[in-house]
Amino acid sequence: MEHSHLDWPFFEASHRALAGDVDCWAEEQAPRRSRDRDVDTLCREWVGALATAGHLRHCVPARFGGSAETLDSRSICLIRETLAYHDGLADFAFAMQGLGAGPIVLGGNAVQQSRWLAKVADGRAIAAFALSEPDAGSDVGALTTRARHDGGGWRLDGCKTWISNGGIADFYCVFARTGAETGSRGISAFVVPAETPGVIVAERIGVIAPHPLARIELDGCRVASDALVGAEGEGFKLAMQTLDIFRASVGAAALGFARRALDLAVAHARSRRMFGATLADRELAAAGLPRGLAARRRKAAHDARGRDGEDGGHRMCAAGDRCIGANARRRGRDDRTSGRTSLS
Ligand SMILES: Cc1cc2nc3c(=O)[nH]c(=O)nc-3n(C[C@H](O)[C@H](O)[C@H](O)COP(=O)(O)OP(=O)(O)OC[C@H]3O[C@@H](n4cnc5c(N)ncnc54)[C@H](O)[C@@H]3O)c2cc1C
Repeated sequence: MEHSHLDWPFFEASHRALAGDVDCWAEEQAPRRSRDRDVDTLCREWVGALATAGHLRHCVPARFGGSAETLDSRSICLIRETLAYHDGLADFAFAMQGLGAGPIVLGGNAVQQSRWLAKVADGRAIAAFALSEPDAGSDVGALTTRARHDGGGWRLDGCKTWISNGGIADFYCVFARTGAETGSRGISAFVVPAETPGVIVAERIGVIAPHPLARIELDGCRVASDALVGAEGEGFKLAMQTLDIFRASVGAAALGFARRALDLAVAHARSRRMFGATLADRELAAAGLPRGLAARRRKAAHDARGRDGEDGGHRMCAAGDRCIGANARRRGRDDRTSGRTSLS
């Protein structure tokens, strides 16, 4: 994969090395995964392969076998962009380990963390993040899944939908209403092992891209008191903090898909002969697609860098923006001087 953006000052030497390693690894791995296999098997295989290669270590902090003290947003972005370029399901398998484990990383107690996080990093446990409901998507505060005190523990009832890894997950981070308040208040997070009675995979949802997805019913699902992740009523905050870590990486994954589409389009345009030349020689085909991609890469890198540092992160972002802006202006001047519009 083309990696010129790694020269930007948003990244450090370790990021450049990581992106190169993941690229070589994914290029070798992706052709091995047969498209004829069912999506659950393929997804499990990707989780195992990502774990063996050590890539899932970027989903948990160092004290649970992770690669850095805290989750590094730029590493997550680069891994996702590179995996998405080579295989969408590989990106999905990686991202969901991080997203599903996120609430435990951020708010879990020592027992929850030691029970699950090392397993997430070494692929022994597949994670899922169960927030959305049929009537609570963007509007998370509308969720109605309920957790009630039950003996010494909790009883969960409700419906979660669009749950990635639904049906193959080993545990679900479930968000449920515990308080009487409405909206974002009174929501709590729970870690629920998939084999808990009352966790029902009610429907597998088919989508075009291979992706294990399900509607999960919680029907009198009883968990112990220590299943609560973080403090009671802190669930909305935990969900948003988790999503915040992975938000920039959604853009990075989209860039990987777009870069792949561009490379395939350019290869086709260069080989397709017409009117005594190739399609790539026609003016229209050479228009500014690559430039649009560069702008979006800059946005993802900027956002990830901003997340990774406190004040230093934002200073580095400003320096990176200035440097890229100067390069773009210089390239624009060069292109105007030479009349160049090439596909690159
Ligand atoms: C492939 C896939 C995987 C998923 N995996 C998971 C998962 O693992 N866990 C999980 O919990 N959920 C998951 N989801 C659910 C996802 O998080 C929701 O789809 C998302 O929150 C949007 O909710 P919705 O689909 O109900 O759309 P809606 O909330 O109904 O939104 C409809 C439209 O309204 C727009 N909109 C939202 N707010 C506003 C506003 N204030 N003003 C104007 N427009 C607005 C939205 O951008 C969207 O275009 C997944 C979804 C998909 C498609």
